[in-house]
Amino acid sequence: MKLSDFSQNLMTTDHAAIKPDRMRLLGAPDSARAFETRDFLSRSGVPYDWVQLDSAIARGLAGVDGLDDTRLPLCLFPDGSRLESATVAAVAERLGWVTAPRLATYDVSIYGAGPAGLSAAVYAASEGLKTVLVERQAIGGQAGSSSLIENYLGFPHGLSGAELAERARQQAVRFGVEILQLREGIYAKFENDGIHVDMADGSKLSARVNICATGIEWRRLGLADEARFLGAGLFYGAGASEAPMCSGETIYVVGGGNSAGQAAMHFAEYAREVVVLVRGERLADTLSDYLVKKIAASPNVRVVTNCAVTAVRGERSLEEITVHDRRTGTEQRLPTRHLFVCIGGLPNTDWARDTPIARDSAGYLLTGPDVLLPATQGGPWPLQRPPSYLETSVPGSFAIGDVRHGSIKRVATAVGEGAMAVAFIHQYLRQA
Ligand SMILES: Cc1cc2nc3c(=O)[nH]c(=O)nc-3n(C[C@H](O)[C@H](O)[C@H](O)COP(=O)(O)OP(=O)(O)OC[C@H]3O[C@@H](n4cnc5c(N)ncnc54)[C@H](O)[C@@H]3O)c2cc1C
Repeated sequence: MKLSDFSQNLMTTDHAAIKPDRMRLLGAPDSARAFETRDFLSRSGVPYDWVQLDSAIARGLAGVDGLDDTRLPLCLFPDGSRLESATVAAVAERLGWVTAPRLATYDVSIYGAGPAGLSAAVYAASEGLKTVLVERQAIGGQAGSSSLIENYLGFPHGLSGAELAERARQQAVRFGVEILQLREGIYAKFENDGIHVDMADGSKLSARVNICATGIEWRRLGLADEARFLGAGLFYGAGASEAPMCSGETIYVVGGGNSAGQAAMHFAEYAREVVVLVRGERLADTLSDYLVKKIAASPNVRVVTNCAVTAVRGERSLEEITVHDRRTGTEQRLPTRHLFVCIGGLPNTDWARDTPIARDSAGYLLTGPDVLLPATQGGPWPLQRPPSYLETSVPGSFAIGDVRHGSIKRVATAVGEGAMAVAFIHQYLRQA
């Protein structure tokens, strides 16, 4: 049997016809592992076709016995090779994206390849610093999950986060940035000669100065049983890769911020109805005006305010949610196969625990003048000179973008701080 025989089960990421020169990912519906790989490929801008299997088709494909076969998801590459039990790490490895550091020590190490880290990398390398950029997931960070960024200067018709990320990645590589992808810094030690970081894979990375651009990740709903549905109907974030799977359905987006608004607009192109569930009184209190207007003009987007999701239910995947009306105190059970949660974030700063890096009570990193305020966690500023604007409480260690206390959570500010940090690094290295 040929794959083309199963075209009725084909869902492509961009509605293109299946092409043999594209990567194909085959898996069971509601497979969390398949979702993780789809999400990673979409955010990385890799063209691929998603082929959703049913049991008969799964059996028909060479070597796959049924939907529970542990060899799923299966990745077929254009060169004819296949990868069974595909994971993000294994796919990235196969694409040649997982590499070892080339140098023993760098001038600058940057953790996090969202807009802030990518910008810092471009400016650092373009100004002659030996620069390494470490990213634990997909290049592009949160921005990479955005279907359309419309307010970033210079793109009057907007651009997708994946495209922005890929353009920035190419720019960084052109200037000589070394990118270590699928690597995660988990603990940092600061000594006079620089920063030494323990990586999750057991390796170590050293640099004279470092920039933390580790951003934020989604806050969880905190519901009983929610872990069972992760990637199987319940998605944290805008889930751009899932939009084609919502065709003809009523789906729910939780959150009142720009990421939720953008997600709703994107899903509205595919779903029969998109219901945006907002905790507050008015969407306009939390959403940019351009998105409020777009949502109001969309016939298949409905906004429900003053509510919260209180339960998720289903057998193998999500089948139903419970929504609590905060005004009346009543609850409603609603059938759905897709719930996207975009409710703000928590800073990725666990790595800074047990280090002298000062954090605020929510875990965001203190920088510049804030370092001199009483810190909740971490050490005091140790030098006579004041910290420079983006410097943390450890001299020579900088923080930029969403991970920083008081940051403006926008692509443009993250990018701007990346450029600023490099100027402060030059000052620091001149003094050192
Ligand atoms: C769906 C969505 C839509 C948005 N739309 C817009 C928009 O239209 N306009 C706008 O201005 N802003 C928008 N934003 C906000 C914008 O994307 C963020 O403000 C911006 O991405 C912040 O950039 P950052 O680099 O600071 O952090 P992030 O983008 O969060 O990137 C941090 C990166 O660090 C990595 N990381 C974390 N810990 C580690 C570690 N220990 N080691 C290695 N890597 C690590 C993460 O995997 C991530 O890739 C949107 C956000 C979302 C989620």
